[in-house]
Amino acid sequence: MAKIKKKVKTIKIDLDKCNGCRACEVICSAFHANPKYSSNNPARSRIRMIRDPIRDVYVPVYAGEYTPAECMGRDKYIIDGKEYDECGFCRASCPSRDAFKEPDSGLPLKCDMCEDDPPLEKPLCVQWCINDALIYEEREEEVEESVEMEDVESGLSSMIDKYGMDKIADTITRMSQKSSN
Ligand code: SF4
Ligand code: SF4
Repeated sequence: MAKIKKKVKTIKIDLDKCNGCRACEVICSAFHANPKYSSNNPARSRIRMIRDPIRDVYVPVYAGEYTPAECMGRDKYIIDGKEYDECGFCRASCPSRDAFKEPDSGLPLKCDMCEDDPPLEKPLCVQWCINDALIYEEREEEVEESVEMEDVESGLSSMIDKYGMDKIADTITRMSQKSSN
């Protein structure tokens, strides 16, 4: 089976440096507004600040894959004496919570690492985090070509099951209009 090189982009998070300012949410939602930068609304951001100021807990989480089912096991974490909620570190858009869902359509949001043409040097949330709590990293990995396509197909079919073909088709049309603007 053919192997291809894939560039993997990640954002490391340093919880100790985050002060909950939410600049990352503002710039992410503005970048993804239509037209770009025309508005900002943290509810549309692909990075969300899970915060509990009384316990001094600030957890920036950027959106990962959509999952159609709630997970079976959840854990509380205590790190350096701070207690983090069960879903605190989870990146999934899932039925259990409102995070990472487009407010109008309910469709899942996923971080796209600020894809742009020409590409940005670093994602915007990383650039806007003046506390250096977000650290951008790139690495190369070899993956099976067919596995990549299987991932796309299984993600698409679960979204069609949940939201219906019409809603998905409308969203794809809207996204393609946005990218051709
Ligand atoms: S911009 Fe940085 S410090 Fe501010 S909330 Fe986001 S991650 Fe935390
Ligand atoms: S990398 Fe870009 S798309 Fe992803 S959370 Fe940060 S600002 Fe949003």
